Amino acid sequence: MVKMARERFGASQLISPEDLRLCREAVEAAQRAYAPYSKFAVGAAIRTVDGKTFAGANLENAVYGLSICAEMAALTNLNFNGDPRGIDAVAVAGYSLNQDTVSEHIVTPCGRCRQLISEFAGLAHLNVPIFCCNADLSQIAVYRIEELLPHAFGPRNIGQGT
Ligand SMILES: [Zn+2]
Repeated sequence: MVKMARERFGASQLISPEDLRLCREAVEAAQRAYAPYSKFAVGAAIRTVDGKTFAGANLENAVYGLSICAEMAALTNLNFNGDPRGIDAVAVAGYSLNQDTVSEHIVTPCGRCRQLISEFAGLAHLNVPIFCCNADLSQIAVYRIEELLPHAFGPRNIGQGT
């Protein structure tokens, strides 16, 4: 098991160029959000070990409960176009469409998305790092999936996998 790490960066210079690029892709993905109700755009980007990236944005609906998170959209994109067993890192970023100023607050995956990421992390046998960002990347925190979702329910709980 990968050692869990929790680091919070006050500025993006402490992050590797490769990881910073992934965070920028998450911010760019947020521009594709369909968020007319919450007015909160979220983007997610997933990198696989071969260096490919798969992005997604939140998609809302007048039936609020049907809304799809950015991470969920990115994971679907990865599953359809790439190899979910190769998941290497996730970045998520978001911002309010109502405010002119960028929030200091980072975006972290919701509970459902933590569960979805955990499934693919298990396939990859990797305690996947998740870069949680605010919109201008002045605040980036990196957590590991097992830190965000300890004792996760997984395939082994239903007698599958290892
Ligand atoms: Zn979510």
